[in-house]
Amino acid sequence: MNLFKKIYRSKAAIFILLATASFVIRADDMQYALDRAAMVAEIERYARLTGDRTGDQAFNKPVMRSMASVRRHEFVPDAKKRFAYENRPLPIGFGQTISQPYIVALMTDLIEPDSDDVVLEIGTGSGYQAAILSRLVKSVYTIEIIKPLAENATARLQRLGFENVTTRLGDGYYGWAEHAPFDAIVVTAAASHVPPHLVKQLRPGGRMVIPVGGRFMTQQLLLIEKTETGEVKTRQVIPVIFVPLTGAH
Ligand code: SAM
Repeated sequence: MNLFKKIYRSKAAIFILLATASFVIRADDMQYALDRAAMVAEIERYARLTGDRTGDQAFNKPVMRSMASVRRHEFVPDAKKRFAYENRPLPIGFGQTISQPYIVALMTDLIEPDSDDVVLEIGTGSGYQAAILSRLVKSVYTIEIIKPLAENATARLQRLGFENVTTRLGDGYYGWAEHAPFDAIVVTAAASHVPPHLVKQLRPGGRMVIPVGGRFMTQQLLLIEKTETGEVKTRQVIPVIFVPLTGAH
């Protein structure tokens, strides 16, 4: 075979390989998009089922648009990607989980996000909740206590272009005083009590959602509202199960 034929054949082989790879990637993307649409429908169904307790039969459209657009499979370990759009929490390593999509949507809806809002999240985990918030508010500050999770989430959020999310390694029990007051606070790990620092860092008129209760028991998801006069009102929304808020506090 002359040299020209050899080059021609190897180029053709590379072209076929690349075309096949891009076809497989596009087919994967299409499957994820279909799975994501099914997840959104499932969240809507859950919202209707639980509406009497949560006071919310249907979540706000922007919240659902964010749930429909963020690629949850990017936030779960490779071995779990095929379950990424099931309506359940999944392990992300270090004994931690990415929360159930319905709970992420509910907590996001309860804080009534606005495009001017500055939001604090405690418990970055995979970065998924921060990504959902990122598409709805001006900026998100998020704190994670486990170093490798904080590092992975920081890299992931950067790679995926969630530029208005700022991450930090630390104990979220104390909040993030430099960026306070916050329009809303989302706590994604269960506390034994409502951390007073977080209440202090909530602006008047602000909202906080936080699971409160014992370790690895059913907890209550609380909605805490600070009125314009600084009065704090608390409502129990729904029973939930979250991993515990840890730290030396
Ligand atoms: N929001 C996460 C997501 O979207 O993947 C899921 C959060 S997971 C249910 C709870 C997270 O809170 C874990 O990653 C855990 O390490 C973190 N955490 C627990 N105690 C914390 C604390 N005191 N400060 C900051 N993060 C904490």
